[in-house]
Amino acid sequence: MADRLIYTKEIPSLGHYELVVLGGGPAGVCAAIEAARNGAKVLLIEGSGMLGGMATTGLVGPFMTNYDREGERPTVGGLYREIIERLEARSGAILPENTDSPSIHTSFIKRYHRHVTPFDSFMLQIVLDEMVREAGVGVLMYTRFADCVCEGGKIRSVILAALEGLRCVSADLFIDATGNADVAYAAGVPTWKGEEESGVPQPGTLMFEVDGVSDEGYNAHAKRPGGPTGAVKAYRTPTEGIYKINHLRVFNTDATDSASMTRAHVEARRQVLESYRVLQETPGFENARITQVAPVLGVRESRHIEGKYKVTVADVSGGVKFEDCIATYAFGMDVHPRNAEMKGNFKIEIANVYYVPYRAMLPIGCDNLLVAGKTISCESQAAGGIRVMPCAMAIGQAAGAAAAIALRDQLALDAVRTEELQSVLRAHGAILD
Ligand SMILES: Cc1cc2nc3c(=O)[nH]c(=O)nc-3n(C[C@H](O)[C@H](O)[C@H](O)COP(=O)(O)OP(=O)(O)OC[C@H]3O[C@@H](n4cnc5c(N)ncnc54)[C@H](O)[C@@H]3O)c2cc1C
Repeated sequence: MADRLIYTKEIPSLGHYELVVLGGGPAGVCAAIEAARNGAKVLLIEGSGMLGGMATTGLVGPFMTNYDREGERPTVGGLYREIIERLEARSGAILPENTDSPSIHTSFIKRYHRHVTPFDSFMLQIVLDEMVREAGVGVLMYTRFADCVCEGGKIRSVILAALEGLRCVSADLFIDATGNADVAYAAGVPTWKGEEESGVPQPGTLMFEVDGVSDEGYNAHAKRPGGPTGAVKAYRTPTEGIYKINHLRVFNTDATDSASMTRAHVEARRQVLESYRVLQETPGFENARITQVAPVLGVRESRHIEGKYKVTVADVSGGVKFEDCIATYAFGMDVHPRNAEMKGNFKIEIANVYYVPYRAMLPIGCDNLLVAGKTISCESQAAGGIRVMPCAMAIGQAAGAAAAIALRDQLALDAVRTEELQSVLRAHGAILD
């Protein structure tokens, strides 16, 4: 049998939109809401059955700090702030001003963990459903981006694997928020995976939640000399007794390869059981029971795109300012070990605040595409901080605002005026200084 097959098929179209956002994680949801609130006709495509990406399907949490390195001043506002306030109103989050570090909410980690936002992942699904509905975003879940049709340096249509079969949809603009840069890659944008030299990504982790944890027991254990938490890295959720466990590691996980993800997820499930036994011997966790295991394996790093500007480690550590700044952030370069021998996390110091330029979202070689979230044009180490959820949301919001301006003024994405973009973002609560 031949190892290739040429396959032609006429497929139904879902119509034409001004903007199609692929991927409904923290970046994609914020991009879609911001664009729709600014008047664009938007379709949001999500492969799973829920919005929120790693925050919901991956059970990841808390939202990492959105404060400057000193822990004094917020660095992300806008949609992120609105989301957490809506969550808090439903007892689904503790606002960051009320969570200092070290504490049970910050896993007793001192550096870069002041003012995290613990949240409930189911309540986040509810809040995001509500926000996209209110904004008038068209949403299609259970639908995966599969390919795109390009012409003249632009994407004309995307091909989707819907439950009812292959479908296509055309749009003026597209935002790739798949967390894998799937759209950019299919459109021929240059990309690389993981660390530049080795191609090895940060490890994957299968997150899980346990209940029955004693705050006092964990508190005393983690604060002991030699703490914080030994083998156990746990973050308390807004609900007493319920903790998220984030300390498993599966190395060499390629999130763009089904065989690799299969191997990794099977191994991760085995690790959950193994670690559960360790957990039960940890003070505070003696009565812990697993209440849920994430349905999706957590992927910290996948593809990165080559964009019109690549954010460097020097930019992050030096706090280099950009005229086209669209987001500020200050979580450290959190690079987990890429193999069992390595030590990782926060090896390089960072500025009190660092800046993300608009050009890092503009891919090389595709003129009507923005890339938002953890795959923007960024050196692998530098992405160690930029990848986390408050920053991904700020980047997503900026992508949505830029797309809406480009649509309204009939501009190419790289012709959107920085001052205009920044003024829209500031008016919507973003922090850019
Ligand atoms: C184990 C782990 C622990 C972490 N801990 C924290 C933490 O404590 N705090 C924090 O703030 N951040 C943390 N992070 C980082 C953070 O979760 C991610 O970097 C962040 O979610 C990135 O957002 P995103 O929108 O770019 O991508 P994602 O969250 O990955 O969202 C991508 C979305 O696109 C969808 N999608 C993917 N491919 C397709 C396709 N082909 N078609 C349609 N849809 C598609 C996915 O289903 C998903 O919904 C952690 C990450 C991991 C993996």
